[in-house]
Amino acid sequence: MHDFNYKHNNLYCEAVNIEELAEKYGTPLYVYSRNTLISHYRKIKEAFRPVNPLICYSMKANSNFSICKALVKEGAGLDIVSRGELYRALKTRVSSKKIVYAGVGKKESEIEMAIRHRIFFFNVESIPELELINKVAGRLGVRQKVAIRINPDVKAGTHKYITTGHGENKFGIDFVTAKKIFLDRRKYENLSVSGIHMHIGSQIVKSGPFIKAMKKVADFIKDLEICGAGIGWLNIGGGLGIIYSKEKPQTAKEYAGAIMPILKRIKANIILEPGRFIVGNAGVLVTRVQYIKETPSKKFAIVDAGMNDLIRPSLYGAYHEILPVRSRSYSGSKDIRVFDVVGPICESGDFLGKDRKFVRLKEGDLLSVMGIGAYGSSMASNYNSRLRACEVMVEGDKVRVIRRRETYEDLIRAEI
Ligand SMILES: *Cc1c(COP(=O)(O)O)cnc(C)c1O
Repeated sequence: MHDFNYKHNNLYCEAVNIEELAEKYGTPLYVYSRNTLISHYRKIKEAFRPVNPLICYSMKANSNFSICKALVKEGAGLDIVSRGELYRALKTRVSSKKIVYAGVGKKESEIEMAIRHRIFFFNVESIPELELINKVAGRLGVRQKVAIRINPDVKAGTHKYITTGHGENKFGIDFVTAKKIFLDRRKYENLSVSGIHMHIGSQIVKSGPFIKAMKKVADFIKDLEICGAGIGWLNIGGGLGIIYSKEKPQTAKEYAGAIMPILKRIKANIILEPGRFIVGNAGVLVTRVQYIKETPSKKFAIVDAGMNDLIRPSLYGAYHEILPVRSRSYSGSKDIRVFDVVGPICESGDFLGKDRKFVRLKEGDLLSVMGIGAYGSSMASNYNSRLRACEVMVEGDKVRVIRRRETYEDLIRAEI
């Protein structure tokens, strides 16, 4: 599943000892396996081969240049949600014909820049947005392809903050309104309203919600065809779940197997936007225990990474496995203690894991927070004026810094 394994009690990323990385680059440190990254991209590509989709990696999962670039080299396109991500995308030299742009709040300046760069599709989330894109495209003399993002009103069975395809979420357009748009599409004279997009949420571990949404969309497309409004492209979004603890997510193959029959009937070109599935298991966050603190009610391992480096536990109550970088043998339950692993930030919500068992954990020990490749560094901040951590990519026995640790100069660079 991934390339983080113990050899002689030491945790390795591919052929590199993580302890040595921590000594050399300091902590906290994000460590990525290039092999894990690429092999997950290939898994999904292979699973969907029969429909030959355009796979647009969802940059917000991890927008580090080297990670995006590695995927672009493999042939991936990019799914963006802001002008900043467009800027990053263009730096990778991805073909702009492989860029798709979603998000409910695109500003006119962002739309203009994306059209100037001739991106492939806008995934449109409202009628006012559609009108604005039409206006800007007209001004620039471009006929722009757009897809209508459908909100299929299904429950994704995932955390409420990462479900996006339910009627109450801010995303997408309901079927009735979408049908009106398609039947009326000639009035948007600078647009080619030629696609349907959906993305129902993230970390979805069962194929049920995907199938339910897909069937609704397939019926909708059939209805449109009957009305003489066929589409050319169907973008089915991302959302594939991964293993953080005891989840048993569908594999890429199972996911593809479940929905491919529906996709084949639709006869549109297919786009996918996986993020977490590709990069989630490709990264770990290495941190050092600063203090062991015991209170009358709890034991805390206070580490040098905090919610500014990894906000998922605080934000979503997300679980990440936390492993010792050097595993210790134990001679019985007396060696095992239970700790809350917490950061140095001045918030009680600043924790990486609660009630975790460790063998003879000591100050100075290194811990590895697993599965932080997605929504880890891309959600990092400078809160408490902490410097954003260094990121390194391992390939076999080679190591490359893909983001240097910030300096105190960086911290105040934009301030006056
Ligand atoms: C976040 C997002 C994705 C990627 O979701 P994952 O769960 O990481 O696969 C894909 N499409 C859109 C529109 C998104 O907002």
